[in-house]
Formats: sequence, C-alpha cells, structure tokens
Amino acid sequence: MTTGLPWGLLAGLLSVTALGSEVPQSAPQPRSAHFSLTNKGAASPFYNRLANNKYWFVASDAPVDGALASQKLSARSGERLVLVELHGVAPARLPGELARMDDFAVLSEPYNEDLHMINGQAVLFGEELGAKLRTAPAATGERSLRSPLHDLTSRVVTHLSTLNVERDFLESRVRQLSGDLPVTIAGRRLTITERRQDDHKANARAYLRQEYEALGFTVTEKAYRGGWGFGTHVNFVAEKTGADPSRFLLISSHLDSVGNAGADDNGAGTISALAVAKALKDQELRYSLRILAFDEEEIGMVGSAAYAQQLQDEGQLDGLIGDINMEMTGYNSANDGAFHIIDCNENTSAELSKKFREVAERDQDLRLRFVSACTNRSDHASFWRFDKPAVVLSQNFFGGDGNPCYHKKCDKVDRMNFDYMTRMTSLLARVTQELLVP
Ligand SMILES: [Zn+2]
Repeated sequence: MTTGLPWGLLAGLLSVTALGSEVPQSAPQPRSAHFSLTNKGAASPFYNRLANNKYWFVASDAPVDGALASQKLSARSGERLVLVELHGVAPARLPGELARMDDFAVLSEPYNEDLHMINGQAVLFGEELGAKLRTAPAATGERSLRSPLHDLTSRVVTHLSTLNVERDFLESRVRQLSGDLPVTIAGRRLTITERRQDDHKANARAYLRQEYEALGFTVTEKAYRGGWGFGTHVNFVAEKTGADPSRFLLISSHLDSVGNAGADDNGAGTISALAVAKALKDQELRYSLRILAFDEEEIGMVGSAAYAQQLQDEGQLDGLIGDINMEMTGYNSANDGAFHIIDCNENTSAELSKKFREVAERDQDLRLRFVSACTNRSDHASFWRFDKPAVVLSQNFFGGDGNPCYHKKCDKVDRMNFDYMTRMTSLLARVTQELLVP
C-alpha cells in the first residue's frame, strides 16, 4: 500500500511554490462582472468569451445589449470568479456555483482549486475571469467568401494526399520531449524531465530548435509579457516560407506541462506538428506554414492569447489563414480510432474541420472515426476571440476515452498508443498538404 499525496494536490502545491501565488501579479482580476448568454457576434469588449455551437457566454464590465440571459455576479471573499463549461455531465449544482446559463456556469472558487478538474471531473473545465478587457475585431458578414481559407478548402484537389508519417520518428521524439530518453543539445546530454520550470522549458525549446533547423525551418523565440509577475514567457515559432509569404497557416500545440512528463499532454501534439513539418519539408508551398509551440497554456492559454494579440498589434492577423491546434493526439485505449475535430461553429472554423472529417472518411486506411465535441479549453479558442478560424484535433476526450493520466504524474509514454498517434498525424499531414501544396 502506498500513502502518497494525490498528484492533483501535489501539483497544486508545486504551482503555488513555483509561481509564488495563483494571483496574477500585474493585473488582478475584477471582483465582479456581468455574465451573459448572447447570440454569436453580439458582445465586445469582454473579459472572457466562451463559445458553444449556438451561443457565446461572455463576461464583461457592463450589461450586453440584447443578451438572452444576464446576471451581475461577485466573488465571495478570498475567492475568484471562474467560468465553467458543463458538457452536459455536471451535477445539478456545483460547489461554489453562483449561476448557470445554457451549458455554462459561474463559480466562486478558492485560488488553489484545480481549474482543469472541476468537481473531480477532467471534462469540466474552468477559466478564471480575465483581468483585462479585450476588444475583438468586428465580425463582417461576407468574410467567409473572401477568405483564403475558403479558397483553400473549396478548391478541387487534383492530387489527393496519401502522406504517412513514420511511427518510429513520432515515438522517439515523444520519448525525448517527455524525459523517457535523453537528448543531446549542442553537444550537451540532458533529460527534459518536465516542462513547467523555466530551465526545462528552455531545454525543450532548444531541442525543438535543433529539430526544426535540421528540417530547414526558420526558428524564432517570441517573448511576450505574461500575466504573472516573474519567469519567462516565450512562444516557439518555426516557419517554412510559401510562394505568397503574406499569408500563413498555423499548426499549433502547447509546449508547457503541469510539471509532469507530459507525454500525451502535450508532447504528442507538439511532436505531431514536428512530424508534419518533416513530411512537407521538401515541398513547394502556396502559403507559409508556421508552427507554434505555445507557452503557458496550462495556466489559462496565456501564450496563445498573447500571440494572437501580437499578430493583431503587428498587423499580421489578416495574414492568418487559420489555426489547427494539436492537443493530446496519443491516447486511444478503445483502439477504435475515435477522434475530435472541434470548431464550435465559431466564425468560419467549420470550413477547416469539414476538411478533416472528409479526409478521415475518404481515407479508410487511417481507421479514424469522428466524434463530435465542443470546447474552449485549448489554444484554438485564443484565435476565436480574434474572429479567426481555428480548430482543435484531439483524442476522444469528451466521448469517454480521455487519457486517465491527464494532468497526473503517470502521463508518460507507456500509456500512449503510437499507432493511433501515427494515424492522427497522417491525417494532419494529408490535410495540410492538400491545403498548402499547389
Ligand atoms: Zn493540454
């Protein structure tokens, strides 16, 4: 028998130690806000904006005109306000619950509560009330027909892609990124045991840089000012220039972990992106392919939110064709090939997800089966908030086959299904090739 601390509690303690406090140092969140259920496109500016297939759930500093439901709510003393996606599986009332609208709830929660595991359920996801008001670009009615994404997804593909990525490549790279095998960086042998602390994250970026530069990609590390008072905040960027470099397709993942090995979450997504870069390295691309490995997803999509803001500030947002976010692509205990491609019917994201569903259905050799889901809980949602198309490709997390080691110490390679990961990554490679290769 063992009597160790549960990992969730340990992770909570570690994060308090590592970060000093769960409270953002520079911009404390407001103690109260208006929470509204609105039609899509109805609200700006906002602190938070979650989507489901039909509505937006918005936290703002003033009532939203024409809201379907609205309430002003305040955090209880010593606590913070948290927005939760319910996914139809929550009990009638959650601890600390202040209000519920459609498939969303607002809780007043102690600061040390784990927002990835609300009420002990991995599928219930909480997002802290934002500290800053955000203004999204105004939605325009005809954007879909004029967007480069529409051109790419609607054209007739004359050369169907039959790309397959190599399983051995995926497995060896995930083992290296999640500490199961040592890596050699600039002649120095080391082990990337976790990816939350600055020095380990820097090693992980140095490792990726080496891999991408060997494929001929241009690497930059893009720093941003984080919501926290100290530590580094760096997104990793690798790019292969296309014939028209003014537009780019993003494939993203998050590189940080919750302090564990993070083999599946999200070593898998990060290495899937690397494998697609390898598969396409010698091809002429119509537009640029940009790979992003975001920092600080695990503390609230901080890196991707900052990156989307930087794109807007630098006038690059118009060039973004869309984001394909890879999140936990390496677990399938049922061996049934079930997967999610998630768009939540946000702006033109469905055009992108449709392409994935079509290729998965067409290419029976991939043995993948689409299972519908909608969530805001990864970096794709940062682009929805800037009115850009984004999807997430993921294991059957919401259909009952999520990795049981999610956010636990046991998220290691021995739990992974590399055959499934190979087929998921091949799906991504085929879609990317058909979109970007003329
Ligand atoms: Zn993740």
